[in-house]
Amino acid sequence: MGGYAWVTLATTDSYSLGALVLAHSLKQVGTKHQLAVLITPGVTNPMRNKLKEVFDLVEEVNILDSKDETNLKLLKRPELGITFTKLHCWRLTQYEKCVFLDADTLVLENCDELFERDELSAAPDVGWPDCFNSGVFVYCPSNQTFSNLIQFALDKGSFDGGDQGLLNLYFSDWAHKDIRKHLPFIYNMSSTACYSYLPAFKQFGSNAKIVHFIGGTKPWLQYFDIQTRTVHPSFELQHMKEVLQYWWNIFCNSVHPNLS
Ligand code: UDP
Ligand code: MN
Repeated sequence: MGGYAWVTLATTDSYSLGALVLAHSLKQVGTKHQLAVLITPGVTNPMRNKLKEVFDLVEEVNILDSKDETNLKLLKRPELGITFTKLHCWRLTQYEKCVFLDADTLVLENCDELFERDELSAAPDVGWPDCFNSGVFVYCPSNQTFSNLIQFALDKGSFDGGDQGLLNLYFSDWAHKDIRKHLPFIYNMSSTACYSYLPAFKQFGSNAKIVHFIGGTKPWLQYFDIQTRTVHPSFELQHMKEVLQYWWNIFCNSVHPNLS
């Protein structure tokens, strides 16, 4: 096998809407690589069919269901199960290298050059820049790494209760070892950072290649006027109106006409 893939995750139908728009945004910029989505049993059948229309691979994962040894250990810690669903991306060993993208990201320009980077490459988190943000990262699928990560999770847990805390402890030399593993911020421009440093956003925002709508205000939760086909963002996302409109344009043109 081999080859490269973009990988995302959706555990619900609403996150699947994000995944669908994300996939179309990747196609729109002409990526050469495959598209894969991990889903959990909570995603409905009609939504799975829509995902299959645009993703090359739709893979169901359920960390608490399978019977192998690592998952049996996890059964004793059910609270970790949901949080670590993202780790399943390491099991896509049919690919040589992947870029994981949260379902609340949107690709604005071709980023195929990301596959030249090594595991684990990611952009700084705006809350604590010595940690990377786990919404966009380059990695190499490996069953060994997957079981190491699960074992590490069981031993050490995650300092923030999520995958980001775990991955930052596991790939703990990211902050200082190799600058090539620090992706420029334009590959994971978080919506909140723009708000806290507006002059920088005005200066550099147009260079963004991947936008990430972190926090509770997701694109699919914004008010959208169907008559005028215009998005009316909530207060925190006013400065992102243009890119949110782009998200909704993709939704209307490529996703909604297909929704049953
Ligand atoms: N996710 C999901 N269902 C959920 C929560 C999260 O599928 O209920 C996936 C989805 O891919 C999402 C990612 O996990 O983008 C990380 O969560 P989120 O983006 O909400 O976290 P944030 O980036 O806001 O910290
Ligand atoms: Mn996110």
